[in-house]
Amino acid sequence: MKSDPNQQGFATRTVHAGQEPEELTGSVSVPIYQTSTYQYRKTGEHTGYEYARVQNPTRRALENCVAALEEGLDGHAFASGMAAISSLMTLVRADEHVIASQTVYGGTYRLFEQVLDRYRLEVSWVDTTDLAAVEAAFRPQTRMVFLESPTNPMMEVADIRAVSRIAHANDTLVAVDNTFLSPRLQQPLTLGADIVVHSTTKFLNGHSDSIGGVLISSRQEDADWFAFLQKSVGAILSPFDSFLTLRGIQTLDVRMQRHEKNARAIAKLLAEHDGVHSVLYPGLEDHPGHAIQKSQASGFGALIAFDLGSYEEAGTFLDSLEVVTLAESLGGVESLISHPASMTHAAIPPDELEALGISAGLVRISVGIEDLADLEADLAQALDSKHNTEEKA
Ligand code: PLP
Repeated sequence: MKSDPNQQGFATRTVHAGQEPEELTGSVSVPIYQTSTYQYRKTGEHTGYEYARVQNPTRRALENCVAALEEGLDGHAFASGMAAISSLMTLVRADEHVIASQTVYGGTYRLFEQVLDRYRLEVSWVDTTDLAAVEAAFRPQTRMVFLESPTNPMMEVADIRAVSRIAHANDTLVAVDNTFLSPRLQQPLTLGADIVVHSTTKFLNGHSDSIGGVLISSRQEDADWFAFLQKSVGAILSPFDSFLTLRGIQTLDVRMQRHEKNARAIAKLLAEHDGVHSVLYPGLEDHPGHAIQKSQASGFGALIAFDLGSYEEAGTFLDSLEVVTLAESLGGVESLISHPASMTHAAIPPDELEALGISAGLVRISVGIEDLADLEADLAQALDSKHNTEEKA
């Protein structure tokens, strides 16, 4: 593939960016370079590859591919989404301040509150859908705004363009966790953000068989720092996981279209069912973030949160499902469902969960690419069994 990747369409980039046939044999598939080190040509002269913590061609292919998909300058792959986020947070020094979306993945909350607090990280958890609240949260020491949009699990949508404008006026970086939408549906760097983070474990890999994370930078100084961290801290993605993730990415375009099509129909089914108290999905016209998401993303994604009233009702529903799998995680080809308060967000204290709206009856589904009719039938029978239990009580 010789043409300029920046001129190519998204699907072409998923298949070709960073994935030149290998020179020795012409191997079309990027090989898994399973080596820890590389022979020097002679003393003082290496091949560009010294040691595999620092450079690995399989990892580099993935990094170049994700950078092309997010329209960034460079990418760096880490051992998990959390390893990527902790590397990102080294841009913030002790006594500096971060403004973060109030409902983020529970592991991000745990990292900020229970690990980085030891290094005197100051965090303000802010409703980042409220631009006045974002503006009011800045301090002289503010170094970064950390956004999830939509947030996990409350599906709150931040105006990435507007937040980036406010942040840059305050000399502050903007990092966006784009895991929920993937670059197929949203490209935060094109909206003004400075850094994008992904748990590649989710839609990018897409097959629930690898844990990984990436950072995509738009500024050379950040890219250089993340490469330095790979070498100095070493939380790198393995060659095999790099290979799997790259292979997963090749079908991202088609997968996301199917995920989204199924999710829109499931959101409608849930919104129309008597047993469901509320549905949070930005694709529904009455969602408060609908218009903003429409203006900054090309779709609404496959995550839907909905409230079934109580822990017991959520439990009856979840335990009745036969096709949809009760498991943490999201973004795989299979539909996965979870109970955030007791699973992904258990690190958040109960009173704060309640205040954020992450209620005991809330469940979150990641709609997969199965036949829609099978998903609809499974959800309908589980909702009915919940309903019947309610009636008997
Ligand atoms: N960001 C989001 C939005 C997530 O949902 C998750 C995990 O669920 C992570 C980051 C962390 O990623 P990983 O599990 O790959 O460490």
